[in-house]
Amino acid sequence: MKVLWLYDIDGTILSTEGAGRASMSQAFELCFGVEKAFSGLSFAGATDLGITGQAFEAAGLPQETERLRVAYLPLLSGRLAQKAPRLCPGIHALLPRTASIGHNALLTGNWRTGARIKLESLDLAGPFEHQGRLLGAFGDDAADRNLLVPIAQAQARAAGLSFDLTVVIGDTPRDVACARAGGALAVAVCTGWSDRETLEASGPDLLVDDLVSGADALLDLVGRS
Ligand SMILES: [Mg+2]
Repeated sequence: MKVLWLYDIDGTILSTEGAGRASMSQAFELCFGVEKAFSGLSFAGATDLGITGQAFEAAGLPQETERLRVAYLPLLSGRLAQKAPRLCPGIHALLPRTASIGHNALLTGNWRTGARIKLESLDLAGPFEHQGRLLGAFGDDAADRNLLVPIAQAQARAAGLSFDLTVVIGDTPRDVACARAGGALAVAVCTGWSDRETLEASGPDLLVDDLVSGADALLDLVGRS
């Protein structure tokens, strides 16, 4: 049994503690002169393509995604160089365990380069790289997170990796929903945006408080499948 492990980033691997949102908002203002373009929009479980699309629509602007992305990335990088993200508990110990029975990859709403900036700020890109490239599905691939599981699976197969089962690990009901949409198992973890009750209601296959206390149960879930 080989597993494709699809890790979410924000709230699951790390938390930028608002640096992502602040950088996006600043980039929008610099590019288009609109302040607080993201106020009232939820970043939890959203994709960068999806959330920026909503902001352009709300501001009545054309979708100049590439211009915004180019402005956002160095701002994010600068903020994280000043204050590194908070590492979620259990990640360092879990990654080699999941890698030993499959392949670690990402399923994140971050643009691919944004994902790399966040992971590299904690020296965590390596475990998700295959031949120098981050493996998985990203916010560039689709605005709708529910489309990302098959994209990540196709990326893994294109890289020559085989697997029998896919597991999504994330911190919001949107992570659980995208696992369902893609026929993957869903592990929800309470280290991010959503509280336990909200995650429970989304119906994950496994709900854990964090990836320390939940590590054994997570590996058992695969054993039982
Ligand atoms: Mg998340």
